[in-house]
Amino acid sequence: MNQTIRVRYAPSPTGLPHVGNIRTALFNWLFARHNKGKFILRIEDTDVARTQPGALESIMDSLRWLGLDWDEGPEAGGPYSPYFQSQRLGIYRSIAEKLIAAGQAYHCFCSPERLQAMREEQTKRKEPPRYDRHCRDLPAAEVARLRGEGVVPVVRFNIPLEGRTVFKDLLRGEVSFENSTLDDLVLLKSDGYPTYHLANVTDDHLMEISHVLRADEWLSSTPRHVLLYDALGFQPPVFAHLPIILGPDRAKLSKRHGATAVTEFKEQGYLPEAMVNFLSLLGWSLDEKTELMSREELVANFSLERVSRTAAIFNLEKLNWMNGVYMRKLRPQDLCEKVMPFIESGLGPEPKCPVSDEYVSQITPLVQDRARTLREFAEFSDFFFYEDLKYEAGMLLKGVKSRDTALHALQTARQAIAELPRFDATSLECLFRPLAAELGLKPGEFFGLTRGAVTGKTATPPLFETMAVLGRERCLKRIDVAVKNLSVLKPS
Ligand code: GLU
Repeated sequence: MNQTIRVRYAPSPTGLPHVGNIRTALFNWLFARHNKGKFILRIEDTDVARTQPGALESIMDSLRWLGLDWDEGPEAGGPYSPYFQSQRLGIYRSIAEKLIAAGQAYHCFCSPERLQAMREEQTKRKEPPRYDRHCRDLPAAEVARLRGEGVVPVVRFNIPLEGRTVFKDLLRGEVSFENSTLDDLVLLKSDGYPTYHLANVTDDHLMEISHVLRADEWLSSTPRHVLLYDALGFQPPVFAHLPIILGPDRAKLSKRHGATAVTEFKEQGYLPEAMVNFLSLLGWSLDEKTELMSREELVANFSLERVSRTAAIFNLEKLNWMNGVYMRKLRPQDLCEKVMPFIESGLGPEPKCPVSDEYVSQITPLVQDRARTLREFAEFSDFFFYEDLKYEAGMLLKGVKSRDTALHALQTARQAIAELPRFDATSLECLFRPLAAELGLKPGEFFGLTRGAVTGKTATPPLFETMAVLGRERCLKRIDVAVKNLSVLKPS
């Protein structure tokens, strides 16, 4: 290809970007980076009623989080500024006027009430709802009269009444639509804002977009766009409509398949590297088997030829697995840094233990294999980081006959721990097994009780390794607190 590759991600700031949106962004970014082209971020904010405060920030945050840097767009600027469509209204207006002057578009004065009644009639007759072209050939005098009455028209596109519109899609091959099935779509609304179609085509042309890679829900818009390019005498870009993303049950991806907003994945503790790898495989593959690929490998290998033609399946289990793999690749200290905010947001402002590299590198191997997300890691390991534990004292009695049995067992354990010459996992195990027998408890009962006392939890990494990392002083202190907590409970 000797042409400069210029692709764009063109979100509408109408909500949080979800998996489908960001997969589109990623494929465009990979395609641009692979071809040493440009990746442009253009904000399609022409639907004022649907624009949501905060959506733009979350789009940009999501892109930044995933490392999808844009060469042109908001904040980056660029030779085709502005990159917000709401700041380009004059451009669309003049394009609409040009089309009217050429007889390719017309003013439509139909009231919302008339359009509504028309649609109801069509539905009754089981016809697809479509504009009946009432204003397409209004006599000039009628136009003047309506204007004189102050009716503000919209601008509609003259779709050819006959023939077919054919275009090539890089993934689907030749696609063709009967023009008779297309509506005379609105190009410019009465508030002066363009519709998606007009703004999108105008900007893709003016911003010299070479390839349009977008979700396949836009495929049915493309014949309209092709006709618009034609009417304007513009060369259309190359189109590739990316396969739909479905849940494992093959239903449209939704909340019940797990998080769908990108920001939620971040909040749940997925790593951006894992997310990029996972998203890249939603409709693209290197070969039949390779799953783990770094960003550099993805950039080096991405090609539209290997984008699939069939639906991509979003499998949360696979993401969890992949995220676990990426977490295990991190250096303990890096992992800890990423986990810390999750620990802090989980437990509130209590003081945390001094977090030395050495301490963290002892914790990480205990938790790393079990946690698939940073949040899970935090949930499994928070007790390592806090001086004071919070738990219901009743929890300690699960699996123990009575409060007094538990009290006696903990006091015995405390004394034995205090006297243990070496405080390591093996010595603790050698101490605890016979001690359980002496106390007349099953090992599981005794270990569970001790686990509750030193961690505040019923499930943790292996008990003796955990205690060894916590250290003798902290274990003793926690057993003392547990004894105190138990003492104030009613004897059972
Ligand atoms: N603004 C459209 C969207 O929200 C862009 C579609 C396109 O890429 O043409 O997805």
